[in-house]
Amino acid sequence: MSVLIDVKNLHKSFKNNEVLKGISTEIKKGEVVVVIGPSGSGKSTFLRCLNLLETPTSGQIFFEEQNITDAQNDLYHMREKMGMVFQNFNLFPNMNVLANITLAPRKVKNISNSEAEKIAEKLLVQVGLADKATAYPQSLSGGQKQRIAIARALAMQPDVMLFDEPTSALDPEMVGEVLQVMQDLAKDGMTMVIVTHEMGFAKEVADRVLFMDEGIIMEEGTPTAIFDQPKHPRTISFLSKVL
Ligand code: ADP
Ligand code: MG
Repeated sequence: MSVLIDVKNLHKSFKNNEVLKGISTEIKKGEVVVVIGPSGSGKSTFLRCLNLLETPTSGQIFFEEQNITDAQNDLYHMREKMGMVFQNFNLFPNMNVLANITLAPRKVKNISNSEAEKIAEKLLVQVGLADKATAYPQSLSGGQKQRIAIARALAMQPDVMLFDEPTSALDPEMVGEVLQVMQDLAKDGMTMVIVTHEMGFAKEVADRVLFMDEGIIMEEGTPTAIFDQPKHPRTISFLSKVL
């Protein structure tokens, strides 16, 4: 598998608070990487650095062989090619579902209305919400909102999808429908980096699990290695609390 994202010795500080203390990892094309770890360990900051929502303090990130941390490079291509899904959906409340999904493709990629709507309708089928094209976000359940947020990210035809605790804000009965959409994506070969506390999902879907603690990758491996034979005491302690 070829490398899609290459992270080299990534550091991030907020003022005097060093949150990421040297992260190095390669995300391969088609790989599903699940990031786990205690609250405050830097998981969100790591994810946000990958698409430069946060500016790294030092280190490099290569995306499709381009050094995106080099100020010389323009970021538009990278931003189009990395989809991100947040805990709180972030749908535009004043737009219906179809408008939410077609906005970026129309504005950023300059594709026609009808073409954008065709893509959106296909995506709505994919996330099981074909009947919601004209609905407004406020009328949707949390699980439906999150599936729309996923469809909206996919509408840009990204090469990688980043998920930051996509099910953490959901009522328990809605977690499954969102995880199902993500699992289908993984099966279709989408490259994914997923921060989650859903350990069952991680076990089933991840190719690789990163355990982050105190701003570093404390341990990484296959789901079997991490969940069944964790080696680091911090991993063992964390898993004993969440499993
Ligand atoms: P996690 O996602 O693992 O819970 P975060 O990456 O959100 O961890 O946060 C790690 C640390 O970085 C926390 O101490 C948090 O307060 C700090 N932090 C995150 N974002 C910011 C920010 N924008 N400004 C200042 N501190 C931040
Ligand atoms: Mg977080």
